[in-house]
Amino acid sequence: MKKYELKLYPDPVLREGSSPVTKVDGSTRHLIKKMSKITYQNQGIGLAAPQVGTLERVIIADIGEGLISMISPEILTGFGEDFLEEGCLSLPETVVNVERKQSVFVRYLDKNEKEKESELNGLTARVIQHEIDHLNGVLIIDHAALSERLNVISKLKI
Ligand SMILES: [Zn+2]
Repeated sequence: MKKYELKLYPDPVLREGSSPVTKVDGSTRHLIKKMSKITYQNQGIGLAAPQVGTLERVIIADIGEGLISMISPEILTGFGEDFLEEGCLSLPETVVNVERKQSVFVRYLDKNEKEKESELNGLTARVIQHEIDHLNGVLIIDHAALSERLNVISKLKI
C-alpha cells in the first residue's frame, strides 16, 4: 500500500496539475481515508490529494459538519465575493487574505462513482475552492497582493 504523508511548501508536487479520476475504486477510497486522517491529525478543515503527494483530482473537507469527499470536482458557477484570511496545512504559520465566491455549484463523483451536484455556501464553499486550487497547482500565496506575497514568502522557512 502506498504511504501518504503531508507535503510542505516548497515541495514541487504542490505546483503540479492533477489528473481527473474517472474510475473510483478501493485505492481512491483508501486515499480519501488517509487524507481524512492526516487532516484530522493536523486540525485541518480540508485537504487535496497533491498535498499527500498524489496527483489525482480528489479533495476532502470537514468544517465540523461531517466529512465531504469529492472526486474530479468541477465548479460550474459561483456567486458573490468574500474576503477572508486562509491558512493551509502545506504552508504552516502562513495566513493570506483570499477572495472567493460566497456560493458555488460543484459537480463531482462521490465515493461510489455516482455523479452529484451540490450548492455550497460560506466556509464550505471557501474550503472547496481552496482545495480545487490545489488540484491546479495554485496556493494561497498566489492570491496575495504583491506586497503581501513578498512579506509572506520572506517568512516561509525555505
Ligand atoms: Zn491548502
